[in-house]
Amino acid sequence: MVFISTRGEEKVTGAQAIVQGIAKDGGLFVPEKFPAVTPSELESMLGMDYPERAAFVLHKYLDEYDHEELLAALKKAYSQFEDGDAAPLVRVENGMYMLELFHGPTCAFKDMALTVLPYLLRKGCDLCGIKENVLILVATSGDTGKAALEGFKDAPGIKIMVFYPDDGVSKMQKLQMCTQEGENVNVVAVRGNFDDCQTGVKKIFGSEECKAKLKEKNYLLSSANSINFGRLAPQIAYYFSAYCDLVTSEQIKMGDKVNFTVPTGNFGNILAAYYAKRMGLPVGTLVCASNKNNVLTDFWAKGTYDSKRPFYKTMSPSMDILVSSNLERLIFELSGRDAALTRERMQQLSATGRYSIRAEELKAYKKEFFAGCTNEAETVDCMYEFFDEYGYPMDTHTGVAMSVAQRYEEMIEKDPSAEKHPMVVVSTASPYKFPQDVLYALTGNDVKDSFKGIKRINLLTAMKVPESLKAIRYKPVRFKQVTSPEKMFDEVMKFV
Ligand SMILES: *Cc1c(COP(=O)(O)O)cnc(C)c1O
Repeated sequence: MVFISTRGEEKVTGAQAIVQGIAKDGGLFVPEKFPAVTPSELESMLGMDYPERAAFVLHKYLDEYDHEELLAALKKAYSQFEDGDAAPLVRVENGMYMLELFHGPTCAFKDMALTVLPYLLRKGCDLCGIKENVLILVATSGDTGKAALEGFKDAPGIKIMVFYPDDGVSKMQKLQMCTQEGENVNVVAVRGNFDDCQTGVKKIFGSEECKAKLKEKNYLLSSANSINFGRLAPQIAYYFSAYCDLVTSEQIKMGDKVNFTVPTGNFGNILAAYYAKRMGLPVGTLVCASNKNNVLTDFWAKGTYDSKRPFYKTMSPSMDILVSSNLERLIFELSGRDAALTRERMQQLSATGRYSIRAEELKAYKKEFFAGCTNEAETVDCMYEFFDEYGYPMDTHTGVAMSVAQRYEEMIEKDPSAEKHPMVVVSTASPYKFPQDVLYALTGNDVKDSFKGIKRINLLTAMKVPESLKAIRYKPVRFKQVTSPEKMFDEVMKFV
């Protein structure tokens, strides 16, 4: 399959798109056209296990990868998930389901893709005939960094370096990253917020001078951030899998539409749902849930993306984002795949912090999406009430999603003309990953220590504590370095 840039003429293979991460013109790679999954193919996926379903979906895009080898890599990746199922669907009540994507090695949904990306990248280098070592640079709001470190640790021919905002990740996230094992890893805190980290990394990717310096050391840059198509592709698979599970458990009939609510930050997860829909999955509305950093909600209300606004630190740090990178791929689609217009808008965004779309694009969006946001108090109330009513504890990000999903359901309930479909809320992290905030939401109690929080939640909910979180308590802290956004590349050179 051929991939094109959202900003211009560049055409590459899937392997190249993954190895390069970002197009030379600064655009993101998108498939030249969406591959179809026909109703009979969807039918055939019902009898498959999760890795088989994922291989089927991925191979539609990455057809130069050998199918058997891809399947073997996916089996290996998802065998690291606890309890054998990588993406279980849990029924809460009639018409309401949770898609749990947090059973991987770092307890957040990023594992769904980042356990697979090392294979896609290494194989991609082989397919492209690349001989250099690869340096992965990651800017993280918390969960990506750890999942990437875990995925790439000790991968041959690859080094990985992660930058995180010094004051912008949870204690548990920081501890997870700073205790990372592996000989090829480095973790550095940046004085600033996530957007400062992301801008710093993007600058390095955009600089010919930086790339030349790295080439002297025999390193080629690549990214594990969610703009890489190798991150997006494995995420498309779980929407298909959730749908299949709804059919096989007789919650829906084949062909019925399903809605999804996705807690959104960089717009990667929900974009994957949109791709699934474009491939033919029967999806109704995609509900885009934001926290107090509601730049997306405002965008879809007004048609103007305005990133010049206060940045709030919330209990759902992986969604504390003002510039949602993957939105570019959706804007490209809504514009009728107008690369020149997309380029202009993205230039406006970097120059002025804002851009607007046309009324008809907004209309096209509203046919497929609903956007909503929620504040901290509403999120806490929702988490508490949900646990009280169903005995189901959820993490803070999922709490944002549930709160917006409930609001959407109430709105639909009142509207006699609206189509009604079952709702799947995407659960993106284990409650144990944000123990202090989750404990506070469920009981009103504050604890100073994350591990005390874990213990209390365990007593309260009887939910199993993930082994990987138990273990870090006794691991030594290996990385303590803090730098300024201007010095990020110096740190990179020290590392290679
Ligand atoms: C990354 C993350 C999100 C946001 O996902 P995007 O793909 O960036 O929109 C939501 N919840 C959790 C727990 C995350 O780690």
